[in-house]
Amino acid sequence: MSIRIGQGWDSHAFKPGVPLKIGGVAIEHPEGLAGHSDGDVLLHAITDALLGAVAAGDIGTFFPPNDPRWKDADSAIFLNLAIEEIQNAGYRIINVDTTLVLAAPKISPIAIDIRERIADMLDLELNAVSVKAKTPEGMNLDHVAQAHATVLIEKIEEPDRPRTMSAVIENQRHLEEVVEDLVSQVHGNPEGPGVSVRGPLRRRVTLPTFDTDDIT
Ligand SMILES: [Zn+2]
Repeated sequence: MSIRIGQGWDSHAFKPGVPLKIGGVAIEHPEGLAGHSDGDVLLHAITDALLGAVAAGDIGTFFPPNDPRWKDADSAIFLNLAIEEIQNAGYRIINVDTTLVLAAPKISPIAIDIRERIADMLDLELNAVSVKAKTPEGMNLDHVAQAHATVLIEKIEEPDRPRTMSAVIENQRHLEEVVEDLVSQVHGNPEGPGVSVRGPLRRRVTLPTFDTDDIT
């Protein structure tokens, strides 16, 4: 099994009069997170963790902050692109662990909603998505929200390809030899099994031309 790890981090300042969205969930709060997009600090950290796991750059590589197309954009767009990068690289997500660092609002009562939303977006079971929260004690960062994210991904194993007839039968001549031997045994070879049919008898057991198209 081939596994890889990815780590992401993000921060946004709180700003009055802006809707607050964390982990794709709209939260009632007097302030939201300032940003060119919707400022969803948690989705940005997870997006970077996913991109990092497959060494595909970071969120700014794909969505430059000065690009007007991403003004007030739903951060689910960024996350979906990172999910595509994971899939294109032939991997799937095993689990996601995150930590929010913010003074307010309290995350614990809504952590389950955020986990459900993220699990839904990443197509994971709820127990594969963790959202923890801490207050920024002693950091003088009460006006800032930070998010840390770690993801684990694993290579999707290709199922064994079924062996094709063309692989078993190495060439036409080999096939003819095998069939000829079988036929000679079925028809009763007077010289005993396993001995090649020769002479006039050979013509009696002449094989029809084998059409390889029939066994593809
Ligand atoms: Zn951000």
